[in-house]
Amino acid sequence: MLRLFNTLTRSKEVFRPISQEIVCMYTCGITAYYTAHIGNMRTYINEDILKRVLLHRGYRVNHVQNITDVGHLASDAGEGDDKLRHEAEKEKKSMKEIADMYTAIFTDDLNRLNVIMPNTMPKATDHIPEMLDLIAKLDRKGYLYKAENGIYFDTSKFAGYGELTGMSFERLVSELREGARVEKVAGKRNPTDFAVWRFASGSEKECIWDSPFGRGFPGWHIECSAMSMKYLGKHFDIHCGGIDHIQIHHTNEIAQSEAATGEKFVNYWVHNNFLVVDDKKMSKSLRSIYSVDHVMKMGYSAIALRFFLLSGHYRQTLNFTFEAMSNAEKTMRGIYQFLERLASAPRAEKSADSRAFMAKIRVSVRMFFKSLDDDLNMPAALAAMHGVIKDTNIRIAEGKLSRTEAACVIDGMMEMDEVLGLEFAKQIKKGEPKSASEIEALINDRDAARRAKDFAKADRIRTMLKQKFHVVVEDTESGSRWHEEQSQ
Ligand SMILES: [Zn+2]
Repeated sequence: MLRLFNTLTRSKEVFRPISQEIVCMYTCGITAYYTAHIGNMRTYINEDILKRVLLHRGYRVNHVQNITDVGHLASDAGEGDDKLRHEAEKEKKSMKEIADMYTAIFTDDLNRLNVIMPNTMPKATDHIPEMLDLIAKLDRKGYLYKAENGIYFDTSKFAGYGELTGMSFERLVSELREGARVEKVAGKRNPTDFAVWRFASGSEKECIWDSPFGRGFPGWHIECSAMSMKYLGKHFDIHCGGIDHIQIHHTNEIAQSEAATGEKFVNYWVHNNFLVVDDKKMSKSLRSIYSVDHVMKMGYSAIALRFFLLSGHYRQTLNFTFEAMSNAEKTMRGIYQFLERLASAPRAEKSADSRAFMAKIRVSVRMFFKSLDDDLNMPAALAAMHGVIKDTNIRIAEGKLSRTEAACVIDGMMEMDEVLGLEFAKQIKKGEPKSASEIEALINDRDAARRAKDFAKADRIRTMLKQKFHVVVEDTESGSRWHEEQSQ
């Protein structure tokens, strides 16, 4: 049974999907006006781990992750400039050019970090009609009002506003007031209210649409509600994001989605904690905002970065230091060397304690998945994997690893890698004897030896083929034939 910590109920809950066949999962994607940093990437990698755990359990996963290319304002609460519009003006490019550029960098980074791509990556600018439909629905139900710079959602009208935060409406209002981030907008009723549609100011050159609510552009929150419900339905399983989205973005998504449909929006809210650098929040002034590119240019591999970013528990902060990154690189190299050694180690005959060894390996592999089932406890899962490596290394050193035992360890490592995504298969392949051509060459040598009646040499080659490649040679009237030895 998979248990996940649900922010909505603030408890670990057994995961029960709405449909037994397919799990619907939405992860908030990037606002494409800058290069996503490794803190952002940590969130996407942890979401990838969750998805892979679901896939490993046999579910199909319909995963949607948006790309925000308009409407995300300087403050999440919905004030200030549009981040993308601002960047486009600064760079003297179109908003589309900016969004395309950063989306390309982002998808490149996801690929480098071996993240399984979402099934759909909808762009906000392609879904304006869906957003306007949703806004019209909210308008008909009386949740909206017009203020100076846009159409606002009246949060006081939605019973249970802020449930995701565990705070009362009054407390949220006072927190926002004290935060002093709230701009004075004429006609705005509550500090927690947010724009679903912003009016054009007249200075915008692009990404402005005519609508029954006036000429303008959508608010960031309505984008995620409209796109998630379009692709996953009005009620779906899992919604993920960073913990910084709980109080405003996700709280507002819930309010407008449930106000519009009258149904529960999402069953499980899964939130990732931050990556810190040298124990501090990443910041421009400390020059501690690193991208995947930065880290790779320092000589680290993308796969070691993936390993580092997935190694902590997703609900705890993870501290990035270059020392920790070096350790991750070293550990990753150690795992890869182990996999090569595992594939290439000479196979011993079956020994009396073979069953006991394999039982131990299987227990560790089970422990790995059991740990992940417990709210994705990755540190415990990795400890179990290191147990497999340690036990197998001892076995190899003792010269006792049999063919069946090696197969058992390889199976276990490969199964764990379905979730880890650290490309174990490549390393195992590297370690495997370069069989086909080597075998053919040895068989030819043996045939030549037989023709020369050097039977001693032919026998030596036969023994070598059996020991090294587990290949059995048979001599027939039409020449020699070979096949792989049956496993024990
Ligand atoms: Zn979102």
